[in-house]
Amino acid sequence: MKKLLITIDGPAGAGKTTVSRALADRLGYRYINTGALYRGVAYEVKRRGINPENEAKLQKLCHLIQLGFESKGTGLRLYSDGVDISDPIRTPEISMLASAVSAKSIVRDYLLEVQRDIGQKKAAVFEGRDMGTIVFPEADVKFFLDASSKTRALRRYQELESKSSQSLEEVAQDMKKRDTNDSTRSLAPLKPADDAIRIDSTGLSVEKVVDLMLSYIEKKL
Ligand code: C5P
Repeated sequence: MKKLLITIDGPAGAGKTTVSRALADRLGYRYINTGALYRGVAYEVKRRGINPENEAKLQKLCHLIQLGFESKGTGLRLYSDGVDISDPIRTPEISMLASAVSAKSIVRDYLLEVQRDIGQKKAAVFEGRDMGTIVFPEADVKFFLDASSKTRALRRYQELESKSSQSLEEVAQDMKKRDTNDSTRSLAPLKPADDAIRIDSTGLSVEKVVDLMLSYIEKKL
């Protein structure tokens, strides 16, 4: 069967991670969460006490670190120089720092190569912000997944509940700030590719969204 490269872009809390993972499972494809790579850089920035505005230091860091994924059981783990950092990259602080470092061309150029390298073999679902626009403009099927801001904030809040003490209000505020950063930055801003299929997941179950996506994908297979 033909091996496709599928991209899913969209704002935080739109359901990208759950849907991408389920879709990859149904297709027997790899699932790649590119936000984790930006979080990985942010994690190293914090751990090494680097000022994210210091471009020379950021450049040095990008030459130095080795980020890579490994599939383990049901999940995808992120390693930095052999250390599993999948859990510590999920804090609200790292979310915000990831959004800040992701606006830097040095970081985006470094991760562009990492992502394209992983995508070479196709048979993968890539989720992120610029998958269909910048990283894989030739992707076989592109989706842009969105949901109402209320739904997205509630999903993020439920996801974070056990890991953070943030209130729903604080989660909503952080998300709004990150959305504004991500969609107004000059480099690879969050926006749907011209040929992306737009899906609004508000009020839709994961199964419904995945079925809908599969109906588009089947036409390409
Ligand atoms: O997807 P997630 O919320 O984990 O991503 C964290 C941050 O990484 C985003 O807010 C965004 O700033 C950045 N990012 C990006 N491009 C991607 C994926 C994530 O700029 N392809």
